[in-house]
Amino acid sequence: MAPNFLSELTGSFAMPAAENPTVAMIEAAYRHHQLDWRYINCEVTPENLAAAVAGARAMNWAGFNCSLPHKVAVIRHLDGLGESASIMGAVNCVARRGTSYIGENTDGKGFLASLREVVDPAGRSVVMFGAGGAARAIGVELALAEAASITVVNRDPIRGKTVVDLLNEKTAAKAELVEWSMTYPVPAAAEIVVNATSVGLFPDVDAQLDLDFETLGPGMLVADVIPNPPRTRLIREAEKRGCKVLDGLGMLVNQGVIGVKYWTGVDVDAAVMRRTLLHLFEPKSSWSQDLLANRPQAAGDIDDYRNKR
Ligand code: NDP
Repeated sequence: MAPNFLSELTGSFAMPAAENPTVAMIEAAYRHHQLDWRYINCEVTPENLAAAVAGARAMNWAGFNCSLPHKVAVIRHLDGLGESASIMGAVNCVARRGTSYIGENTDGKGFLASLREVVDPAGRSVVMFGAGGAARAIGVELALAEAASITVVNRDPIRGKTVVDLLNEKTAAKAELVEWSMTYPVPAAAEIVVNATSVGLFPDVDAQLDLDFETLGPGMLVADVIPNPPRTRLIREAEKRGCKVLDGLGMLVNQGVIGVKYWTGVDVDAAVMRRTLLHLFEPKSSWSQDLLANRPQAAGDIDDYRNKR
Protein backbone atom coordinates (compact mmCIF):
# COMPACT_ATOMS: atom_id res chain seq x y z
CA MET A 1 0.00 0.00 0.00
CA ALA A 2 1.28 3.50 -0.83
CA PRO A 3 2.34 5.46 2.25
CA ASN A 4 -0.17 8.05 3.44
CA PHE A 5 1.26 11.11 5.13
CA LEU A 6 -2.08 12.93 5.36
CA SER A 7 -3.51 12.66 8.89
CA GLU A 8 -7.18 13.34 9.64
CA LEU A 9 -7.57 16.57 11.62
CA THR A 10 -9.72 17.50 14.62
CA GLY A 11 -9.18 20.02 17.41
CA SER A 12 -10.58 22.66 19.69
CA PHE A 13 -11.30 26.39 19.45
CA ALA A 14 -11.40 28.24 22.77
CA MET A 15 -9.97 31.16 24.67
CA PRO A 16 -8.10 30.63 26.93
CA ALA A 17 -6.94 27.27 25.59
CA ALA A 18 -3.64 26.60 27.37
CA GLU A 19 -5.15 25.00 30.48
CA ASN A 20 -7.57 22.67 28.63
CA PRO A 21 -6.35 19.06 29.03
CA THR A 22 -8.73 17.57 26.41
CA VAL A 23 -5.95 17.33 23.80
CA ALA A 24 -3.97 14.97 26.05
CA MET A 25 -7.01 12.75 26.61
CA ILE A 26 -8.05 12.54 22.95
CA GLU A 27 -4.57 12.08 21.49
CA ALA A 28 -4.02 9.25 24.00
CA ALA A 29 -7.12 7.53 22.57
CA TYR A 30 -5.95 8.12 18.96
CA ARG A 31 -2.55 6.57 19.78
CA HIS A 32 -4.10 3.64 21.69
CA HIS A 33 -6.34 2.76 18.72
CA GLN A 34 -3.57 3.44 16.17
CA LEU A 35 -5.68 6.08 14.47
CA ASP A 36 -3.69 8.40 12.24
CA TRP A 37 -5.63 11.37 13.59
CA ARG A 38 -4.56 14.62 15.27
CA TYR A 39 -6.31 16.91 17.78
CA ILE A 40 -5.01 20.47 17.64
CA ASN A 41 -5.71 22.75 20.62
CA CYS A 42 -6.18 26.27 19.19
CA GLU A 43 -6.59 29.58 21.00
CA VAL A 44 -9.16 31.50 18.94
CA THR A 45 -10.41 35.00 19.79
CA PRO A 46 -14.12 35.81 19.29
CA GLU A 47 -13.27 38.05 16.30
CA ASN A 48 -11.38 35.18 14.63
CA LEU A 49 -14.01 32.49 15.18
CA ALA A 50 -15.55 32.81 11.67
CA ALA A 51 -12.09 32.54 10.08
CA ALA A 52 -11.21 29.55 12.28
CA VAL A 53 -14.36 27.65 11.23
CA ALA A 54 -13.74 28.58 7.57
CA GLY A 55 -10.17 27.31 8.03
CA ALA A 56 -11.42 24.00 9.43
CA ARG A 57 -13.71 23.65 6.40
CA ALA A 58 -10.92 24.59 3.99
CA MET A 59 -8.62 21.96 5.52
CA ASN A 60 -11.43 19.39 5.61
CA TRP A 61 -11.25 18.86 9.40
CA ALA A 62 -13.48 16.00 10.54
CA GLY A 63 -14.75 18.21 13.35
CA PHE A 64 -13.79 20.22 16.40
CA ASN A 65 -14.78 20.99 19.96
CA CYS A 66 -15.50 24.52 20.99
CA SER A 67 -15.42 25.84 24.48
CA LEU A 68 -15.81 29.25 26.14
CA PRO A 69 -16.51 31.81 24.77
CA HIS A 70 -17.64 30.24 21.46
CA LYS A 71 -20.41 27.78 22.44
CA VAL A 72 -23.25 30.05 21.26
CA ALA A 73 -21.45 32.21 18.69
CA VAL A 74 -20.28 29.20 16.65
CA ILE A 75 -23.88 28.27 15.73
CA ARG A 76 -24.18 30.90 13.00
CA HIS A 77 -21.16 29.39 11.21
CA LEU A 78 -22.63 25.85 11.08
CA ASP A 79 -25.02 24.04 8.71
CA GLY A 80 -27.32 22.48 11.32
CA LEU A 81 -27.77 21.37 14.94
CA GLY A 82 -28.49 18.11 16.76
CA GLU A 83 -31.65 17.93 18.92
CA SER A 84 -30.22 18.78 22.34
CA ALA A 85 -27.85 21.47 20.99
CA SER A 86 -30.85 23.05 19.31
CA ILE A 87 -32.87 23.06 22.57
CA MET A 88 -29.92 24.40 24.59
CA GLY A 89 -28.83 26.93 21.98
CA ALA A 90 -25.21 25.92 22.68
CA VAL A 91 -22.68 23.75 20.85
CA ASN A 92 -19.49 22.24 22.20
CA CYS A 93 -18.74 19.70 19.47
CA VAL A 94 -18.97 20.03 15.69
CA ALA A 95 -18.96 17.02 13.40
CA ARG A 96 -18.53 16.92 9.62
CA ARG A 97 -21.36 14.88 8.06
CA GLY A 98 -20.97 14.72 4.29
CA THR A 99 -20.06 18.29 3.47
CA SER A 100 -22.06 19.78 6.36
CA TYR A 101 -20.79 20.86 9.75
CA ILE A 102 -23.36 19.91 12.42
CA GLY A 103 -23.28 21.27 15.97
CA GLU A 104 -23.85 18.91 18.89
CA ASN A 105 -23.62 19.31 22.64
CA THR A 106 -21.71 16.49 24.28
CA ASP A 107 -21.51 18.06 27.79
CA GLY A 108 -24.89 16.69 28.85
CA LYS A 109 -24.54 13.53 26.73
CA GLY A 110 -21.26 12.73 28.50
CA PHE A 111 -22.98 13.17 31.85
CA LEU A 112 -25.89 10.98 30.79
CA ALA A 113 -23.62 8.20 29.50
CA SER A 114 -21.77 8.21 32.79
CA LEU A 115 -25.04 8.29 34.80
CA ARG A 116 -26.57 5.43 32.83
CA GLU A 117 -23.74 3.15 33.91
CA VAL A 118 -25.27 3.40 37.40
CA VAL A 119 -28.93 4.41 37.08
CA ASP A 120 -31.55 5.14 34.39
CA PRO A 121 -32.93 8.66 35.00
CA ALA A 122 -36.32 7.85 33.40
CA GLY A 123 -39.11 8.58 35.88
CA ARG A 124 -36.64 9.83 38.56
CA SER A 125 -36.77 12.91 40.68
CA VAL A 126 -33.65 15.10 40.26
CA VAL A 127 -32.16 17.94 42.33
CA MET A 128 -29.55 19.93 40.41
CA PHE A 129 -27.32 22.67 41.84
CA GLY A 130 -26.34 25.42 39.36
CA ALA A 131 -27.83 27.05 36.29
CA GLY A 132 -24.81 27.76 34.10
CA GLY A 133 -23.75 26.11 30.84
CA ALA A 134 -23.07 22.68 32.39
CA ALA A 135 -26.39 22.69 34.29
CA ARG A 136 -28.34 23.68 31.19
CA ALA A 137 -26.75 20.84 29.18
CA ILE A 138 -27.31 18.27 31.92
CA GLY A 139 -30.87 19.45 32.59
CA VAL A 140 -31.85 19.14 28.92
CA GLU A 141 -30.32 15.66 28.53
CA LEU A 142 -31.97 14.44 31.77
CA ALA A 143 -35.30 15.81 30.52
CA LEU A 144 -34.87 14.15 27.10
CA ALA A 145 -34.04 10.93 28.98
CA GLU A 146 -37.48 11.29 30.65
CA ALA A 147 -36.53 12.33 34.18
CA ALA A 148 -39.86 13.02 35.91
CA SER A 149 -38.93 16.22 37.73
CA ILE A 150 -35.92 18.53 37.95
CA THR A 151 -35.48 20.97 40.86
CA VAL A 152 -32.93 23.64 39.92
CA VAL A 153 -31.22 25.15 42.98
CA ASN A 154 -29.33 28.34 42.15
CA ARG A 155 -28.17 31.54 43.86
CA ASP A 156 -29.00 33.87 40.97
CA PRO A 157 -32.79 33.55 40.46
CA ILE A 158 -32.73 35.07 36.97
CA ARG A 159 -30.21 32.51 35.70
CA GLY A 160 -32.11 29.76 37.51
CA LYS A 161 -35.45 30.81 36.01
CA THR A 162 -33.96 30.81 32.50
CA VAL A 163 -33.03 27.12 32.83
CA VAL A 164 -36.34 26.18 34.48
CA ASP A 165 -38.34 27.97 31.76
CA LEU A 166 -36.29 26.27 29.05
CA LEU A 167 -36.97 22.82 30.54
CA ASN A 168 -40.69 23.47 31.07
CA GLU A 169 -41.22 25.01 27.63
CA LYS A 170 -39.09 22.72 25.47
CA THR A 171 -39.16 19.33 27.21
CA ALA A 172 -41.71 17.11 28.94
CA ALA A 173 -39.96 17.29 32.34
CA LYS A 174 -41.51 19.22 35.22
CA ALA A 175 -38.95 21.78 36.43
CA GLU A 176 -39.03 24.13 39.41
CA LEU A 177 -36.66 26.70 40.86
CA VAL A 178 -35.38 26.97 44.42
CA GLU A 179 -33.55 30.21 45.06
CA TRP A 180 -30.41 29.27 47.01
CA SER A 181 -30.20 31.80 49.80
CA MET A 182 -29.58 29.53 52.81
CA THR A 183 -28.24 26.07 53.67
CA TYR A 184 -30.19 23.68 51.44
CA PRO A 185 -31.73 20.45 52.82
CA VAL A 186 -32.04 17.84 50.05
CA PRO A 187 -35.65 16.54 50.03
CA ALA A 188 -35.91 12.87 51.04
CA ALA A 189 -37.77 12.13 47.77
CA ALA A 190 -34.75 13.15 45.60
CA GLU A 191 -33.27 10.16 43.75
CA ILE A 192 -30.52 11.88 41.73
CA VAL A 193 -28.55 14.85 43.13
CA VAL A 194 -26.19 16.70 40.79
CA ASN A 195 -23.64 19.40 41.51
CA ALA A 196 -23.41 21.39 38.26
CA THR A 197 -21.80 24.45 39.87
CA SER A 198 -18.09 25.24 39.75
CA VAL A 199 -17.77 24.81 43.55
CA GLY A 200 -14.84 22.53 44.46
CA LEU A 201 -12.86 22.86 41.22
CA PHE A 202 -9.07 22.77 41.55
CA PRO A 203 -7.35 24.75 42.96
CA ASP A 204 -10.24 25.80 45.28
CA VAL A 205 -10.69 22.24 46.46
CA ASP A 206 -11.81 23.23 49.97
CA ALA A 207 -14.82 25.25 48.74
CA GLN A 208 -18.06 23.49 49.62
CA LEU A 209 -21.70 23.70 48.62
CA ASP A 210 -24.04 25.38 51.12
CA LEU A 211 -25.85 22.11 51.63
CA ASP A 212 -26.97 20.11 54.68
CA PHE A 213 -24.94 16.96 54.05
CA GLU A 214 -26.95 15.12 56.73
CA THR A 215 -29.96 15.14 54.36
CA LEU A 216 -28.11 12.90 51.86
CA GLY A 217 -29.12 9.26 52.22
CA PRO A 218 -28.52 5.74 50.88
CA GLY A 219 -31.38 5.88 48.34
CA MET A 220 -29.68 8.73 46.41
CA LEU A 221 -27.23 8.83 43.54
CA VAL A 222 -24.96 11.85 44.00
CA ALA A 223 -23.04 13.14 40.97
CA ASP A 224 -20.50 15.94 40.68
CA VAL A 225 -19.45 17.66 37.43
CA ILE A 226 -16.11 18.72 38.90
CA PRO A 227 -13.50 16.60 37.11
CA ASN A 228 -10.50 17.83 39.10
CA PRO A 229 -10.20 16.64 41.80
CA PRO A 230 -12.43 13.65 41.07
CA ARG A 231 -13.09 13.02 44.79
CA THR A 232 -14.68 16.32 45.77
CA ARG A 233 -15.95 17.14 49.24
CA LEU A 234 -19.51 16.41 48.00
CA ILE A 235 -18.51 12.97 46.72
CA ARG A 236 -16.77 12.13 50.00
CA GLU A 237 -19.69 13.34 52.15
CA ALA A 238 -22.20 11.42 50.01
CA GLU A 239 -20.15 8.22 50.20
CA LYS A 240 -19.99 8.51 53.99
CA ARG A 241 -23.81 8.49 54.07
CA GLY A 242 -24.17 5.44 51.84
CA CYS A 243 -25.10 7.19 48.58
CA LYS A 244 -23.98 5.88 45.21
CA VAL A 245 -21.58 8.44 43.68
CA LEU A 246 -20.39 9.56 40.24
CA ASP A 247 -17.37 11.81 39.75
CA GLY A 248 -16.97 14.51 37.07
CA LEU A 249 -14.17 12.64 35.36
CA GLY A 250 -16.75 10.20 33.96
CA MET A 251 -18.62 13.07 32.29
CA LEU A 252 -15.42 14.53 30.81
CA VAL A 253 -14.22 11.16 29.53
CA ASN A 254 -17.61 10.20 28.09
CA GLN A 255 -18.01 13.46 26.22
CA GLY A 256 -14.59 12.76 24.70
CA VAL A 257 -15.67 9.24 23.75
CA ILE A 258 -18.86 10.61 22.12
CA GLY A 259 -16.97 13.35 20.22
CA VAL A 260 -14.37 10.90 18.88
CA LYS A 261 -17.18 8.54 17.81
CA TYR A 262 -18.83 11.42 15.87
CA TRP A 263 -15.55 12.19 14.10
CA THR A 264 -13.93 8.78 13.53
CA GLY A 265 -16.80 6.30 13.88
CA VAL A 266 -14.65 4.37 16.39
CA ASP A 267 -15.73 3.51 19.97
CA VAL A 268 -12.58 4.37 21.86
CA ASP A 269 -11.54 2.89 25.20
CA ALA A 270 -12.75 5.23 27.96
CA ALA A 271 -10.26 3.74 30.43
CA VAL A 272 -7.31 5.03 28.37
CA MET A 273 -8.73 8.55 28.50
CA ARG A 274 -9.53 8.34 32.21
CA ARG A 275 -6.00 7.16 33.04
CA THR A 276 -4.49 10.05 31.09
CA LEU A 277 -6.59 12.61 32.98
CA LEU A 278 -5.95 11.01 36.38
CA HIS A 279 -2.23 11.24 35.70
CA LEU A 280 -2.54 14.93 34.73
CA PHE A 281 -4.74 15.76 37.74
CA GLU A 282 -2.24 14.27 40.21
CA PRO A 283 -1.46 17.18 42.57
CA LYS A 284 2.26 16.76 41.82
CA SER A 285 1.93 16.80 38.02
CA SER A 286 3.55 19.73 36.22
CA TRP A 287 0.09 20.70 34.81
CA SER A 288 -1.39 21.00 38.34
CA GLN A 289 1.67 22.87 39.62
CA ASP A 290 1.42 25.34 36.73
CA LEU A 291 -2.28 25.99 37.45
CA LEU A 292 -1.48 26.58 41.13
CA ALA A 293 1.39 28.94 40.35
CA ASN A 294 -0.77 31.01 38.00
CA ARG A 295 -4.08 30.95 39.89
CA PRO A 296 -5.81 34.33 40.20
CA GLN A 297 -5.72 35.62 43.79
CA ALA A 298 -8.86 37.77 43.60
CA ALA A 299 -11.83 38.18 41.27
CA GLY A 300 -10.28 41.33 39.79
CA ASP A 301 -7.24 39.37 38.67
CA ILE A 302 -9.22 37.00 36.48
CA ASP A 303 -9.25 39.12 33.31
CA ASP A 304 -5.58 39.83 33.72
CA TYR A 305 -4.94 36.10 34.24
CA ARG A 306 -6.92 35.23 31.11
CA ASN A 307 -5.10 37.89 29.07
CA LYS A 308 -1.72 36.56 30.12
CA ARG A 309 -2.49 32.96 29.20
P1 NDP B 1 -20.93 28.75 34.58
O1 NDP B 1 -20.00 29.84 34.96
O2 NDP B 1 -21.76 28.86 33.36
O3 NDP B 1 -21.93 28.46 35.83
C1 NDP B 1 -21.45 28.36 37.13
C2 NDP B 1 -22.58 27.95 38.06
O4 NDP B 1 -22.01 27.73 39.35
C3 NDP B 1 -23.67 29.01 38.24
O5 NDP B 1 -24.91 28.39 38.37
C4 NDP B 1 -23.26 29.67 39.56
O6 NDP B 1 -24.36 30.20 40.28
C5 NDP B 1 -22.74 28.49 40.33
N1 NDP B 1 -21.83 28.86 41.41
C6 NDP B 1 -20.58 29.36 41.29
N2 NDP B 1 -20.05 29.57 42.51
C7 NDP B 1 -21.01 29.19 43.42
C8 NDP B 1 -21.08 29.15 44.84
N3 NDP B 1 -20.05 29.55 45.60
N4 NDP B 1 -22.21 28.69 45.43
C9 NDP B 1 -23.27 28.28 44.67
N5 NDP B 1 -23.26 28.30 43.33
C10 NDP B 1 -22.15 28.74 42.70
O7 NDP B 1 -20.01 27.46 34.53
P2 NDP B 1 -20.30 26.09 33.73
O8 NDP B 1 -21.71 25.72 33.95
O9 NDP B 1 -19.78 26.19 32.36
O10 NDP B 1 -19.35 25.07 34.51
C11 NDP B 1 -19.64 24.68 35.84
C12 NDP B 1 -18.64 23.61 36.24
O11 NDP B 1 -18.85 22.46 35.44
C13 NDP B 1 -17.18 24.01 36.05
O12 NDP B 1 -16.48 23.76 37.23
C14 NDP B 1 -16.67 23.10 34.97
O13 NDP B 1 -15.35 22.67 35.23
C15 NDP B 1 -17.61 21.91 35.11
N6 NDP B 1 -17.78 21.20 33.84
C16 NDP B 1 -17.42 19.89 33.83
C17 NDP B 1 -17.53 19.17 32.68
C18 NDP B 1 -17.12 17.76 32.70
O14 NDP B 1 -17.02 17.17 31.61
N7 NDP B 1 -16.89 17.15 33.85
C19 NDP B 1 -18.03 19.78 31.42
C20 NDP B 1 -18.43 21.17 31.55
C21 NDP B 1 -18.28 21.84 32.74
P3 NDP B 1 -24.93 31.68 40.01
O15 NDP B 1 -25.69 31.62 38.71
O16 NDP B 1 -25.82 31.93 41.18
O17 NDP B 1 -23.73 32.59 39.94
